[in-house]
Amino acid sequence: MKLNMQTAEIYAPDGIAMPEALSRTTHLAISAHQDDIEIMASDGILKCFQQKDRWFTGVVVTDGAGSPRDDLYRDYTDEQMKTVRRKEQKKAAYVGEYAGIVLLDYPSSAVKSAGETRVREDLAEVLRVTRPEVVYTHNLADKHDTHVAVALRTIAAIRSLPEAERPKKLYGCEVWRDLDWPVDADKTAFDLSAHENLQASLVGIFDSQICGGKRYDLATQGRRRAHATYAASHGTDTATAVTYALDLSPLVADTALDPWTYVNGYVERFQAEVKKRLAALSGTKA
Ligand SMILES: [Zn+2]
Repeated sequence: MKLNMQTAEIYAPDGIAMPEALSRTTHLAISAHQDDIEIMASDGILKCFQQKDRWFTGVVVTDGAGSPRDDLYRDYTDEQMKTVRRKEQKKAAYVGEYAGIVLLDYPSSAVKSAGETRVREDLAEVLRVTRPEVVYTHNLADKHDTHVAVALRTIAAIRSLPEAERPKKLYGCEVWRDLDWPVDADKTAFDLSAHENLQASLVGIFDSQICGGKRYDLATQGRRRAHATYAASHGTDTATAVTYALDLSPLVADTALDPWTYVNGYVERFQAEVKKRLAALSGTKA
């Protein structure tokens, strides 16, 4: 597989050679940073864990140079942080038994530049080799620019493939902004009740980020638990952990569909629901 950055790296934890290691893939996650995959794509990781016919692969687009740092890592240079984050991502791939992890190694600025085509080319190459059924990436209403840029490059890369080679499903997952705001009918909910221990281990591996002053390990588990309980006001909890996504598959099926037009549909339906409830309860017309 040919990738644009000389420093790009592919790692298969079980030592299977390329391209066989990656061509096993059924579930693929494409993230901006090291640790995003473990925060947002646990559905795919769990669906493939210990399965003979399902394999999970992760793609991390950026190099991790811009990470915040504190504690043990306070004096690390950008280069040292890149090494640490690469190592952490590979540890997660090992613990989660991924088919492989692909580290594209771009600076964030390249990912956010609309005129940069190399990221899209690399993602298209990974998609051609992996041929996944399901792809997880960031959602288009996330509040982190690099996350949204990765989602847009992923959509562009999938659209560049012949129709028969595109994945059946594309999900935009939550990291920087929860996805509990869409109306219930618009929600895609993944039940993450199984293997909570494994999920905790996977986010906990990224010590440089947690030591950097952010308890992503506790916050991620807490968010999943909160979603499970607050999913419905009546009835008892049916899951102990839930994560939400926007179903972005229509953007893959219809290449003329504008991402903003699509996301705005979610925003408009949310707006209409709030307006209708307020009107009904105040006795005014919606
Ligand atoms: Zn991130």
